[in-house]
Amino acid sequence: MAEFPSTARVVIIGGGVVGTSTLYHLAKAGWTDCVLLEKNELTAGSTWHAAGNVPNFAGSWAVMNMQRYSAAMYRTLGEDVDYPMNYHVTGSIRLAHSKERMQEFERVAGMGRYQGLEMTLCAPEELKDYHPFLETHDLEGGMWDPLDGDIDPAQLTQAMAKGARDAGGRIERFCPIEGLERDGDEWIVKTAKGEIRCEYVVNCAGYYAQRVGEMFRPFGGRRVPMVVMSHQYFLTEEIPELAAWTKETGRKVPLLRDVDTSYYLRQDKNGLNLGPYERNCKAHWVTPEDPMPQDFSFQLYPDDLERLEWYIEDAMARVPLLGTAGVGRNINGPIPYAPDGLPMVGPMPGVKNAFEGHSFTFGIAQGGGAGKVLSEWIMHGETEDDMWAVDPRRYTDYADHDYCLAKALETYGHEYAMHFPHHEWPAGRDKKLSPVDARVRELGGQMGSYNGWERANWFAAEGDDTSEESTQTWDRNGPWHARIRDEVEAVRDAVGVLDLPGFSRFNLTGAGVAEYLRGKIAGALPKPGRMTLGYFPDSRGRILTEMSIMRHGEDHFTLITAATAEWHDFDVLNKGLPEGLSLTNHTTEFSTLIVTGPKARDLFQGLDTQADLAATWLSIQTATVAGIDCFLARVSFAGELGWEIHAANADIPALYDAVLGAGAKPFGMYALNSMRLEKGYRAWKGDLSTDYSMLEGGLERFVKLDKPQDFPGKAALQNEKQQGVKKRFVTLLVEAGDADAPYMSCLWHDDEVVGETTSGGWGHRINASIALGMVRADLAEPGTALEVEIYGRRCKAIVQEDQPLWDPANERLRA
Ligand SMILES: Cc1cc2nc3c(=O)[nH]c(=O)nc-3n(C[C@H](O)[C@H](O)[C@H](O)COP(=O)(O)OP(=O)(O)OC[C@H]3O[C@@H](n4cnc5c(N)ncnc54)[C@H](O)[C@@H]3O)c2cc1C
Repeated sequence: MAEFPSTARVVIIGGGVVGTSTLYHLAKAGWTDCVLLEKNELTAGSTWHAAGNVPNFAGSWAVMNMQRYSAAMYRTLGEDVDYPMNYHVTGSIRLAHSKERMQEFERVAGMGRYQGLEMTLCAPEELKDYHPFLETHDLEGGMWDPLDGDIDPAQLTQAMAKGARDAGGRIERFCPIEGLERDGDEWIVKTAKGEIRCEYVVNCAGYYAQRVGEMFRPFGGRRVPMVVMSHQYFLTEEIPELAAWTKETGRKVPLLRDVDTSYYLRQDKNGLNLGPYERNCKAHWVTPEDPMPQDFSFQLYPDDLERLEWYIEDAMARVPLLGTAGVGRNINGPIPYAPDGLPMVGPMPGVKNAFEGHSFTFGIAQGGGAGKVLSEWIMHGETEDDMWAVDPRRYTDYADHDYCLAKALETYGHEYAMHFPHHEWPAGRDKKLSPVDARVRELGGQMGSYNGWERANWFAAEGDDTSEESTQTWDRNGPWHARIRDEVEAVRDAVGVLDLPGFSRFNLTGAGVAEYLRGKIAGALPKPGRMTLGYFPDSRGRILTEMSIMRHGEDHFTLITAATAEWHDFDVLNKGLPEGLSLTNHTTEFSTLIVTGPKARDLFQGLDTQADLAATWLSIQTATVAGIDCFLARVSFAGELGWEIHAANADIPALYDAVLGAGAKPFGMYALNSMRLEKGYRAWKGDLSTDYSMLEGGLERFVKLDKPQDFPGKAALQNEKQQGVKKRFVTLLVEAGDADAPYMSCLWHDDEVVGETTSGGWGHRINASIALGMVRADLAEPGTALEVEIYGRRCKAIVQEDQPLWDPANERLRA
């Protein structure tokens, strides 16, 4: 037997599907010096059985990409590694009980089509062609996915383990990791069998990930934001009628998901397997009285069928065959939930050379793709596809235990819920409040959560319907619509104020800091007293992030970025930070008011502002407004004359009151979104992502290929410039009907999918529906007629000139 390894390049903690897949991908890519440590047998987390490849309806390419990759990988894996396994492609159907659900299916089918998956929508009577035992009289319809199926997780794990070992990867079973140390840039992984020195460590410990995460705390790690839920399914005894049908047809009935009722039902041998995501769900190991056991492998929770009763009855009415059989066996197992139910795949927040791949609720369906993504992170520090939706840095310090628990219960109980564009989920709110939160709510603020910060989305008037039910629509119209218009019109004609807590805010100082930043961004730096948008490309010239760069002095910068980008962008600035430079995070100390509209200057004058109000667009200055010290930045994401007031939290209430008192109308995030669309300003991780290069994104004016400094992606961008881009950013005016184009809608031309939207909405100043998107470069010419697929309807869309739709010459904001 080979000696226990004392060194390795990568140590993976946990040999479930995800850890094994990561080792498999690393070894296949030639990183053979990698070791997987599993405290048990390899398939510890696989006491249950099943997999599906259906897209995640939270609407993220990242998850769809992982699932699509997994499904394709599993189809040939047995042959690739010479380990035969059971992978049944049964197809699946999803049922719709409402018009809105059918619209959602239309959208998902469109997203699938974009990725080469053929999902089709069915009328109720057609569903029986796929599933003869189904009652369909009360349904709106359904969706058929021919490629869905199920797989044996134990076999899957063993197959990947064999493939990994054959390619040179190393697996140590019955080898729990017990602790970590650091020696310079090396990790020392401690196990009962000995220590391993390595460069990278990956936490793939499944539902134990929080416990393993604690070992990283001394090195900058945070408490892993997850909760362990109990998920149950039961298996019936053999059903003779089903057995006869399977014998006759030679196939299994497709996997059925009644997403409105909230369960899946699939054939297991000649019986059925029913698994609900019940509203009255249960978390485990969340109180001191109920600690997580040292080891729960191969164990299950006690049966708790009572919780499922309602779902069982509903399923029996849907598939009466289910009621003809007795319950064979119940499985009640631990399933990890991050607050949004999406996994954590990527760099470990705060810890150098450490990664995470855990909290999978659909780890069997996503494991193949997750291993690919993790191996890319480890080997290249970046991924083929933009993976922000599953990036662990999307949760920052507000995601404490109470938040995680509240969100896990909400997410599990609404696992298949629709995510409507004007709906805000109610659990886990009020984690971070603006200094004027109470005042904003008093004014009618309907709040939304942004990296835990509560901001007003819109302001309701007396008598407006602000119920959750009113938001259960894909349509643009709702109680908010007229109010948003009023808010936008106030900004267009007079002056508005938006309270904007939670802008991520970093100070970067020290001798040589300008040169450091020039080596990070594609463009030029502003002069002292000015600001600019800085774009940070990755090594392939893709859009890693965008920050507002304010320069106070030669060696003194403040960088401001989206609330959700806080930990991501801190990493971007911190990576390779030379000794002697100082990077500090001031997000929670200061806040921002956006004061904008043609009367903004008058307003400031009326408040006895001590500042140069004639200073030009993109100037910055210290000032006093209404006698209060603050900082003014002449910029407006709304595209009107305006200033951002940046001030210490304690000074914000008086400033807000002064600005309101001087006649500014409060406006919310929805109005801001409408106005930024009209200006073609890009939004973080919608329009700006690593799925696109800077040149594709139409950001050439922020790229200075002739500057002397090298920066990430410079060579790639030079090359792309010579070769020409394949895709191009476009602004579209859309004949949209009742709903605007959501993110990730297909763009069509001549019956061919030629691109996708990156965001969309209604422009209240131009009275039209707008979509921003990426299209095949030859179709980006202004005037080109395309179609946008909006919830299944193909709507005419015309490519616009490459300039803002509102105030194309930018005269208003420079006034
Ligand atoms: C009843 C039920 C049904 C499910 N059905 C489906 C389904 O149909 N489709 C689907 O995709 N998913 C399903 N899931 C979810 C799926 O099982 C998980 O998402 C998946 O198993 C997670 O895999 P993993 O590799 O992340 O974690 P795990 O399989 O939990 O693996 C983590 C490993 O880490 C090891 N470990 C922990 N601590 C240490 C340590 N200190 N040192 C060394 N090793 C350690 C553990 O022993 C374990 O083997 C279901 C879950 C349940 C409970």
